[in-house]
Amino acid sequence: MESRMSDVLVIGAGPAGLHAASRALDAGAEVTVLDAHDLVGGQFWRHLPDDRAAADEAQLHHGWKSFQQLRVRLEEHPRCRVLTGTEVWAIEPEEHGAAARVHALSGPSGALRREEVLLTPERLVLATGAHDRVLPFPGWDLPGVFSAGAAQALAKAERVAVGERVLVAGAGPFLLATAASLIATGATVVGVHEAAGPSALCRGWLSRPWELASSARKLTELAAYVTGHLRHRIPYVAGSAVIAAEGNGRVESVRVTRLDRDWRPVARTERDIAVDAVAVSHGFTPRLELAIAAGCAITADRFVAVDARQATTVPGVYAAGELTGIGGMALSAVEGAIAGLEAAGGVIPRQLLAERARQRAFAIRLERAHGIRPGWTDWLCDDTTICRCEDVPFGALSLTEGATQSLRAAKLSTRAGLGSCQGRTCGRTVEEILRQSPGLLGTTTTDQRPIAAPVRLGEFARE
Ligand SMILES: Cc1cc2nc3c(=O)[nH]c(=O)nc-3n(C[C@H](O)[C@H](O)[C@H](O)COP(=O)(O)OP(=O)(O)OC[C@H]3O[C@@H](n4cnc5c(N)ncnc54)[C@H](O)[C@@H]3O)c2cc1C
Repeated sequence: MESRMSDVLVIGAGPAGLHAASRALDAGAEVTVLDAHDLVGGQFWRHLPDDRAAADEAQLHHGWKSFQQLRVRLEEHPRCRVLTGTEVWAIEPEEHGAAARVHALSGPSGALRREEVLLTPERLVLATGAHDRVLPFPGWDLPGVFSAGAAQALAKAERVAVGERVLVAGAGPFLLATAASLIATGATVVGVHEAAGPSALCRGWLSRPWELASSARKLTELAAYVTGHLRHRIPYVAGSAVIAAEGNGRVESVRVTRLDRDWRPVARTERDIAVDAVAVSHGFTPRLELAIAAGCAITADRFVAVDARQATTVPGVYAAGELTGIGGMALSAVEGAIAGLEAAGGVIPRQLLAERARQRAFAIRLERAHGIRPGWTDWLCDDTTICRCEDVPFGALSLTEGATQSLRAAKLSTRAGLGSCQGRTCGRTVEEILRQSPGLLGTTTTDQRPIAAPVRLGEFARE
């Protein structure tokens, strides 16, 4: 087993982690930054490897030049170690001066013998990002239905389009980014269906419009997406959702419908659209398992609780990026910068704090405009699959009148959330379905996973 000591360990090399590492170096620390993925950049700067580099990479990413500068700086800095292909599978609180004991495995995930890495840093920055969230609908388990994140990852990291006629649906500006990447890989995007209706979009985006002027970079990004949409004549339909996917063996068409302000389907507005793929996203869920294992408090709206310095409730442990709230790349980057400086004992310039405040205001708009509304469960049928790993239908989760049960009992009796994804895909959905019936007992959640990544029994036994 390899054991490494460093002043600051950063877990996650997305925008938050890379900025944290860079600022910790500025403040003089010895830094290790690691990521499960083979390349740094996280979800935002997901790209082709250097041995298959593409000439158009810079056109496909916002902020590509600054990413390259950041990456080269970290890779060449004498006080920085960048460990890619290294996945943290467990964190234990530490009592001997270190922030935590971090257990990782290094090497290809399918490899028989991965190298064990044990890290005991003085300060730890958690920057593990988020998963994309997909609300289920009848037929969402058909081949050809992708999460927008998966479609985006295939487009950016492999230049593979998930289909020829693709419909993009769900909620949030990420739908526009996904449509742009699909177009760049040669797909025809037949429409973008945004669940938030015109009134929610106006409430979120048009109130106090002068404040948006301070988010010029975001507006430029948005303008680029809108221009691409207009050029390719892609219909953008607000207040509309995919409520079913149909096909023989794989998706051949989707049913879309108008939604009311609570995302309940409006009767007699359904129509079918022929497609060979669908990309769906309803926002993001933070990857909380390592923060919970480290002992960090979680807020009521289920993000890692941090103070003004991005410090968690555990001494020596900081958190930044999508883990502490969903707000996009710019917010993740500035939070990472503050966390890295603070972890390394540096001084935080006022401009960084002001920038974070601006980006957080933008995140509030995002939630106000595109946040999930409770009426979506109305498009489920009793036989709609909710937990794909264990094949649990909606009907099995509905409590009968007057019945009560805890989330734990519901999981054990139906096996929802107990399959190979450990509830990462369906956990929040199962919670919301159960919460909509008055019979749910207790406040347990589905975020706790003491083993954060798949580990072979042999690797486990070796430890
Ligand atoms: C699938 C997906 C695709 C997205 N694509 C876009 C896009 O194209 N455009 C856009 O504007 N926004 C996109 N987003 C939103 C985007 O993630 C954020 O705006 C931004 O990247 C968040 O930065 P971050 O550093 O907080 O997290 P991320 O960029 O998600 O980085 C987190 C990093 O932590 C690593 N990690 C997590 N757990 C572990 C572990 N146990 N061990 C080791 N490493 C770990 C991950 O591999 C990842 O590289 C996407 C989000 C998702 C989930």
